[in-house]
Amino acid sequence: MAQATLVVDIVELQRRTGTRRRVDARLVLPDTEVGERSIVGGALTVDFVVEAATEGIVVSGAMSGVSRAPCRRCLDDVDEPFHIDVREIFERRPTEGETWPIEDERIDLTPVVRELALLSLPLAPLCLDDCAGPDAERFPTGLAEEPEEPEADESPLDPRWAVLDALTFEDAAGDDQR
Ligand SMILES: [Zn+2]
Repeated sequence: MAQATLVVDIVELQRRTGTRRRVDARLVLPDTEVGERSIVGGALTVDFVVEAATEGIVVSGAMSGVSRAPCRRCLDDVDEPFHIDVREIFERRPTEGETWPIEDERIDLTPVVRELALLSLPLAPLCLDDCAGPDAERFPTGLAEEPEEPEADESPLDPRWAVLDALTFEDAAGDDQR
């Protein structure tokens, strides 16, 4: 397992604007899990170009790997290859949440790669477009759901109205008798 270094010295790059450096690596990152979702094996392939630009050091290119997350219906693991286009900027005074830091004339691409990979994990994938849900034998859907209760009575009698009905009837009957 070759742990490729993703730390790039930028001294050379900054000597002349437009100088590029290619970072082409397969790496295995630790801590690539978010709950039940993960990067399979923590393995990622990156193919970046690093160059000095007026706004800072620009890293562009692509990265790929395989995501794993439980199917939202049957909960089986779903493995899906992913491919992400990357364009990130490193600055001496980074903007929180937008750009990354240049420290000691070097940039470290590792946190960038990890963050982008984890952000790409699918939230609720499906193993198959027509996944039927839980295994019918192990988890019969009929038992999981409440049996449908038939409506008890059409309109349950409100005792107050029942009394009123009776009174009205008696009144009417009394009127007839008069
Ligand atoms: Zn499924």
